[in-house]
Amino acid sequence: MEKTRFCHCCRVHHPESQMRRFHTRQGERWRCLASIEAARRPPGERDEFGRRQTAINREATHRAAEHASLLRQHGLA
Ligand SMILES: [Zn+2]
Repeated sequence: MEKTRFCHCCRVHHPESQMRRFHTRQGERWRCLASIEAARRPPGERDEFGRRQTAINREATHRAAEHASLLRQHGLA
């Protein structure tokens, strides 16, 4: 099975062959070619990708909030 890398743009893992490494002030970050391509396209064409990213981020935030509330219910936080 191909090695995967965590994509800081999509917040999911992709096969390493689709990933490119970037150096940022925070250190090394990996982004997938799809997100790099999407950033290059004119805004109109970027909409669908952007909406998907927003949905993924919202879902991640929701999960984190649920997790925190579970911990509170069990007196762990
Ligand atoms: Zn990605």
